[in-house]
Amino acid sequence: MFNNEKYNSLKQTIPSSVTIIAVSKTKPVEDLQEAYEIGVRDFGENYVQELVDKHEQLPKDIRWHFIGHLQSNKVKYIAPFVNLIHGVDSEKLLLEINKQGKKINRKINCLLQVYIAKEETKFGMDEQELQHVIAILPELEFVNICGLMGMASFTDNEQIITSEFTYLNKLFQTINTKPQTPNNVPQTLSMGMSADYKIAIECGSTMIRIGSMLFGERNKTSQTK
Ligand SMILES: *Cc1c(COP(=O)(O)O)cnc(C)c1O
Repeated sequence: MFNNEKYNSLKQTIPSSVTIIAVSKTKPVEDLQEAYEIGVRDFGENYVQELVDKHEQLPKDIRWHFIGHLQSNKVKYIAPFVNLIHGVDSEKLLLEINKQGKKINRKINCLLQVYIAKEETKFGMDEQELQHVIAILPELEFVNICGLMGMASFTDNEQIITSEFTYLNKLFQTINTKPQTPNNVPQTLSMGMSADYKIAIECGSTMIRIGSMLFGERNKTSQTK
């Protein structure tokens, strides 16, 4: 079930410049339909097959965000319709997205994922890889780099979360002020989830990815990749 009240109050408490992505992974199509009916158009999914199925079943004006870890061999399934790929965490993946975009003559919007947490389990580039990937962008005609994405450590310690998000915003500002190629227009900083979106917004987030707060807790067993 989609929680309309939570969604409306969330919308009222955050700046209007911040986009809410309703993270609907593992949730049935009916839940997304409910959200759609009250005006939600941005949905986030983590699994390619699930995203493809939901895209087929739901209205075509939905903006689909792929927010999970994307395997290169699966890019082709979402390339024709995905609105934004948040988790571009390697040069290899970016090259594959460019290749698939070229095949169908579509420029694909991407966020570069930066590793900011103190955990082994989170994906992302470090600062050096990020600079390298930005340097090769002029050769990649079929990707648009729209900004950065990151996930903070899973902790109650607000100081740690604040310092990780602050670091990501600093990187974002750095790439923002560099001379830009037409396919490098960083305006989106995707950071913040149900537990830490308030801190993320204080630290400059422009896009928050909210799942459990809007759709309820997920069944943990169906979440494995
Ligand atoms: C699942 C997920 C979210 C949403 O998490 P909640 O804690 O349910 O809000 C956000 N971002 C990513 C990358 C996710 O995998």
